Parts: sequence; structure tokens; C-alpha cells
Amino acid sequence: MNPVVHPVGHARQDGERIGRELLYRPEVNKGTAYTHAERAQLGLEGLLPPRVQTQARQVIHAMELLRAKPSNIEKHVFLMALQDRNERLFYHVLAHNIEELMPIIYTPTVGEASQQYSHMFRNPRGLYICASYRGRIADILRNWPEPEVRVIVVTDGERILGLGDLGVNGMGIPIGKLALYTAGAGIDPATTLPVVLDVGTNNESLRNDPSYLGSPSVRLVGKEYDDLLDEFVAAVQTVFPKALLQFEDFANHHAIPLLRRYQDRARVFNDDMQGTAAVALAGLLASGGITKRSLVDETILFLGAGTAGTGIADLVVAAMKEEGLSEEAAQSRCWFVDVHGLVVRGRDHLGEHNLPYAHDRAALPDLLSAVKALNPTVLIGVSGQPGLFTQDVVETMAAINNHPVIFPLSNPTSKAECTAEQAYRWSQGRAVFAGGSPFGPVEIGEKTLVPGQGNNVYIFPGLGLGVVASGARLVTEEMFLVAARVLAAQVGPALLERGTIYPPLTQICEVSERIAEAVAQVAYDGDLAEGPRPASVAEHLATFRYHHEY
Ligand code: NAD
Repeated sequence: MNPVVHPVGHARQDGERIGRELLYRPEVNKGTAYTHAERAQLGLEGLLPPRVQTQARQVIHAMELLRAKPSNIEKHVFLMALQDRNERLFYHVLAHNIEELMPIIYTPTVGEASQQYSHMFRNPRGLYICASYRGRIADILRNWPEPEVRVIVVTDGERILGLGDLGVNGMGIPIGKLALYTAGAGIDPATTLPVVLDVGTNNESLRNDPSYLGSPSVRLVGKEYDDLLDEFVAAVQTVFPKALLQFEDFANHHAIPLLRRYQDRARVFNDDMQGTAAVALAGLLASGGITKRSLVDETILFLGAGTAGTGIADLVVAAMKEEGLSEEAAQSRCWFVDVHGLVVRGRDHLGEHNLPYAHDRAALPDLLSAVKALNPTVLIGVSGQPGLFTQDVVETMAAINNHPVIFPLSNPTSKAECTAEQAYRWSQGRAVFAGGSPFGPVEIGEKTLVPGQGNNVYIFPGLGLGVVASGARLVTEEMFLVAARVLAAQVGPALLERGTIYPPLTQICEVSERIAEAVAQVAYDGDLAEGPRPASVAEHLATFRYHHEY
């Protein structure tokens, strides 16, 4: 009989009983799916219940258990435990149930899981970099057992979704995002690394909570913070030179300067700014299929002038420039209302990132007055505050436009500026809607409208795969532009007919492949790639694909 070779190459040596060890190594464990022959060869006989299950049967069983859980947070805990036990089954379950499980793995449930991270803590995952490690961060990175890290997602926990400062509890976000790199683009989980920078927290209730697992000190600020970040980025470049570094959920006073500081010298991007921007731009481009307006016809009013809003506006301006507008003309199409009212020139409370959009105009106090005065065609909510797209606001948008575009992108669902149902009802079904969190279908008269979700998962896994596979040295604006255009091109007439401006999540792998290919082409064309252009970029990308089938 041929020796049974374990799928990841662990042949049993004579007399060596590696079975029990396999059951506790999530990257290789198959649980009840080990065949009788494998059980005999690997020393597993007697260590598993006798009946052999196929992986498909295991998926059914896992979903039965998951669906029996009474709350989404318990479903989340169940999935995390599965990931810790049998990684390939975890990804197989995700692949077959992506629409159902995306809100459990990521927003909105990941928000609740982050809030409860310390209280629910079971197993560590990823790296926790403390301020006290200053001077030896490279050494700490070397504690990570996998040498070949290709994607790192890092947060300092200061602005977790719209939930504010969660300190080290923010670790759930990098973990969730990296699971989506694998589920969405097939990046091998062994090459991904979640990182939280524990620089303290200004959340007093966390600091006073004895169960809180981060340092119970106030946040590091100023030069000390900057120096820590500099050392971290340099250490990543030294220890994991092939890694793509994704900044995630930093507060805007850090997110924007950090991106500006590193984007021309390291393989970095900020998903809250650039990933969000690409997914929102794709939504705008696709919405043209319903509104019959082109991008350069839009006047966009943002509610919220922070990281996400600025990122979207910057990319929209770049796309409008590609379509023939001057920079000034494109910027003049983007307006912002923040907590202090309309962003206008000479106003107090202007950050540097606001200046290109602080137009010469009289101040206005709030969103409704801005909608009435500016006649926007598009309303984008990135304020982190729920309910601000009021009935008055949406009705005014619907009075001005045949098809107002309404994107309440604030996450999680509890923070959305309005629901899909409100946007559709208040506009008599004429709004083109996309939310930051998922919303169910809405019946309006004879029609069922199916709202899309402006979920960054449409962009970052494919973009990451393109960058990693090409070895691009930098992540450029052009990559986000092509990613947005490729994504928008996946939305056909059947989807538009029901008001959906993003492809179904069930197509995420195909979408990611197309985006990865386009992004890699940008790297090869722009002389940014580390290696030579392969004969077939698609075939080259396929060599990076992780297989979750046994
Ligand atoms: P931020 O803190 O950088 O910016 C928030 C902005 O909202 C600020 O300009 C602030 O002045 C403004 N604001 C707050 N309260 C307001 C009020 N009552 N009225 C008017 N303006 C108000 O935050 P951010 O990183 O830009 O994120 C904002 C939201 O966008 C979060 O909820 C986040 O989850 C969401 N977001 C969604 C996606 C997505 O759906 N794809 C991606 C990124 C961020």
C-alpha cells in the first residue's frame, strides 16, 4: 500500500505517532474527515469517533450548530473557535456561506466582539506590540513563528468602526480583515499577521475594567507615538520585507498623517481612507447605470469630514480628473458638512485635509440647510452618528433629484445615518442606496429593492493579492482607481434593475481575481513590481491561492 501522505506533506515515519499532534494543529487538522487509511497511517485510530465525515458533511454540521446559536455574537465566537481548531474547515464554511457569515465575521458583529474582546478572550492570535517594546520591535516581530508574512493588518484601536477608542480590544478588527483576505482572495492564512499596537487607551471605562487586557494607561501622544510607529514600520520592512502593511481603524488625527508619511516609501495603505474610497467610488460609478448621470455630473455632499470622507473625496477627484475635469473643478464638486456645519474657507476647525474642500461660500449650520443650498445629487454619510439622514433631508434630496444617491456608510448598523427602508420610503423608491453595513430587501409598491453594501471587502483582498503577487513596492492611487472601475464593471443590468450597485458577495472571489489582475498590471506597467512580468498574470496569481479543500 502507498504511504498515506498528509495533505500538507506530513508523512508518517515508521513508529511515529503524529496523530494527536495533528488534531491540535488548526492549519492541518481535518477532524472527523480523516479517512480510515489516514487514521491507520497517522496513528489516529481511536482518537476520533469512528464514522468518517466528508468535508461537505462537516460544513452542514457546522452550519447547523452555528444557526442554533441564539445571537450573532455567539455565532462569532463559534466561528473563531472553529478557526482555532480546523482552519481549512473554517474557510470552507465561509466560502459556502459567505453572504450569511460576512456580517458575523465582520461588521456589524465584529464591533460587538471587539467591545467584549477582553471579557471573551480565549486564545491569542497575532502580535500585541506594546509601547514598552520600544527599541526592540524587530525582535518582537521575530517571535512570530511564520517566516513568510505577506499581509499585515495593524490597528492602534483608537477608532474601531464607529465605536471609538477600544484600545487593545480592537484586535478583533485585524483578525477579521485578514480572514477576509483569505475568504475573498485566497491569500494563505499562514502568510497573514494581525497586529495591535497597544499605546494605551483614553477610554476610561476600559482602563478601570480589571478584565481589560491592554495597558491601562492613557494613550501615547506626540513624538513618542510617532517614534513608535516609525520603528514599527521600519521593523516590518526588515523582518517581513515582502509584507503589505494595511493601517486599520486609526483615529483621523493619526490615520491621515501616517498614510502621508509612509505611502511613498513603504508598501502601505489605509483601508479606512483608500479601501473605503475605492468601494464608494465603485458605487458611484455603478449608480450611473440607474441615474444615467456620469461621475462628472455629480455634486457630492459628505456628512463627516474625517478619514473616510476625505479619502473618498480625494479618489473621486482623481477619477473626475481622469474623466477630463481640472483638479479645482473636481474639488468644487465635493462638499462637506461636519460637526461644525458646512466646511467653508476661513471657517474655524479646519484640518489640513479639509482645505481642498473648504470652498468660498457663506457658512451654513447643518446638513439640511446645505442640501437646500447646494442641490447635491449624492449624499454620503461618514459621520459615525446614527439617524442624521432625516426624513426632511432625504425628502429634499428626492425633490431635487429624480434618483438621489444616498450612501449612509457609517458602521456598524447602529451608527448608520439612515436605513435602506427609510431612504427608499422617503424617496418613493427612487433613491439609489448603499449602506456601510448590510440591509435586507425592501418592498416598495410592486418592486423589491435589494440594497448593496459598500463593503471594503470588495476591494482590499483583491488589491492586496495584486500587490503581493506582483511584489509592488508601493500602493498607488492608480491601483485604487482601477480597482474601483473593475468593481463597478461587475454590476450588470439585472442587479441595477433591483437597485443593487455592488455584485453579490457570492462572487467575491471572481471580483477579487479581476481586481488583483488589474492592480498587478498597474504595478508591472509602472515599474513598481519586484519581479519580471509573468507570461500570464492570471496564472501567476493562481499560484498564490490557498486551498481550503482537504
Ligand atoms: P472620523 O472620526 O475621521 O470622522 C468623523 C467625521 O464626522 C468628523 O468630520 C466629524 O466632525 C463628523 N461628525 C461627527 N458627528 C457629526 C454630526 N453630529 N454632524 C455632522 N458631522 C459629524 O471617522 P471616519 O474614520 O471618517 O469614519 C466615520 C464613519 O465611517 C465610521 O462610522 C466608520 O465606521 C464609517 N466607515 C465606513 C466604511 C464603509 O462602510 N466602507 C469605511 C470606513 C469608515
